[in-house]
Amino acid sequence: MNETRPIGHTRLPSVDQVLRSVSGVAAVERFGHEATVGAARDVLGAIREARRAGAAAAGNVEAIAQDTLRLLEEKNAPSLRRVFNLTGTVLHTNLGRAVLPDSAIAAAVEAMRSPVALEFDIGGGERGERDDHVRGLIREITGAEDACVVNNNAGAVLLVLNTFGGGKEAIVSRGELIEIGGSFRLPDIMARAGARLVEVGTTNRTHLKDYEQALGDNTGLVLRAHTSNYLIQGFTKAVPAAELAALARARSVPLVHDLGSGALVDMTRYGLAAEPTVRACLAEGADLVTFSGDKLLGGPQAGIVAGRKDLVARVAKNPMKRALRIDKIRLAALEAILKLYRDPERLPHALPTLRFFVRPKDEIAAVAVGLREAFAAAIGGEYTVSVAECTSQIGSGAQPLETLPSAGLAMTPIGRKGAGGRLEALSRAFRKLPIPVVGRIKDGALIFDLRCLEDEAALREQLPQLAAHLHTERAADAPG
Ligand SMILES: *Cc1c(COP(=O)(O)O)cnc(C)c1O
Repeated sequence: MNETRPIGHTRLPSVDQVLRSVSGVAAVERFGHEATVGAARDVLGAIREARRAGAAAAGNVEAIAQDTLRLLEEKNAPSLRRVFNLTGTVLHTNLGRAVLPDSAIAAAVEAMRSPVALEFDIGGGERGERDDHVRGLIREITGAEDACVVNNNAGAVLLVLNTFGGGKEAIVSRGELIEIGGSFRLPDIMARAGARLVEVGTTNRTHLKDYEQALGDNTGLVLRAHTSNYLIQGFTKAVPAAELAALARARSVPLVHDLGSGALVDMTRYGLAAEPTVRACLAEGADLVTFSGDKLLGGPQAGIVAGRKDLVARVAKNPMKRALRIDKIRLAALEAILKLYRDPERLPHALPTLRFFVRPKDEIAAVAVGLREAFAAAIGGEYTVSVAECTSQIGSGAQPLETLPSAGLAMTPIGRKGAGGRLEALSRAFRKLPIPVVGRIKDGALIFDLRCLEDEAALREQLPQLAAHLHTERAADAPG
């Protein structure tokens, strides 16, 4: 057959010939003429290059067309890929934080597929507000007078700081000048918001009189930031929220609390460590609370501002709100998530984030026992695979010192020689699977914490492909 005729070293097929081969036709069918021509040129170019470098890179038309097809498939593979989060960190910022329940996914899909009444009052046939879809729910769940929503909590903080602190001073305790993940540093956000930072107290101790002395004619707000990702212990003092609230009120200055993770229900009712709730924060006297949609709340990326009606109105009127607004897709998902909070009893079942948090260690261990042999068989004789106890974390800065007893699989290289390299190779091989598996390396072992594993079948199904990847990675890793 013409397509499979071997081509000698001297003559390469034309792009046209490649396109007319079996795989060439298939490539055009899938990816279009233009993209296939481009890819075929790239493949032919690479062969010419290799030949010039003295390599015996030959190839018949069909082989070149197959390479073209592979190149196109590679280019078209999604970059934002699904992975297995077996890191043990439930809300992993680098892995997209909260995963959503079906009701929220369905709502988001509907909002993507069809026109929706985003800023349209169906009853009156007039213009509406996008915040209207969730403000009632947030009021109901948190006791806030009013609420509005923006792109994320960093945006919410920026917006609030700009609204009340723009051209004015924002008072913050030195113990609360937080940095979250490098890109969110309170002093930087404050500068961008046009607010002048006034630090009060010391790193470990801040007294009411420190705030009193700092408050003046030019104070725009007092900001309290939840130190969600670290803990100051020992000789410490922070001003009780109610006292600070009374002071701020007496001076007619808004007290804003950036809660970060923002729990909407008391976590202790599910046997988890206490985390300040939005409701409690408002009850203690905060005028506004800002929090994330995709941390403890378990929803899509969003930033919520909840609290006093007059202050929310000022925030909503800030032109910056337009630049930070949330999109219809996430708004639809957020509405669906918030509705789940009306039934807190069923929440640990309905909300994946909470389901992961409360998943009992014994149940996770049973999954590990069930998977151990399949993993051992897939990995081969160079590593031991054992069921191991481990500890999971909430993640996203929430309760950094709290851990959840968990279980998983620990893979350890047999023998000391090149153990570190072999461990890295194993870790890379797992990440090369169609659905990359992400774990963590600790104490000379690759640990897969199975707390967040629900689709066991999909994980199992791809294990037979591991050996080939491991072989490649080991070869790449071999010394010399
Ligand atoms: C996480 C966090 C933020 C940033 O929230 P994003 O939703 O990631 O934008 C701000 N402040 C605190 C205290 C946080 O914990």
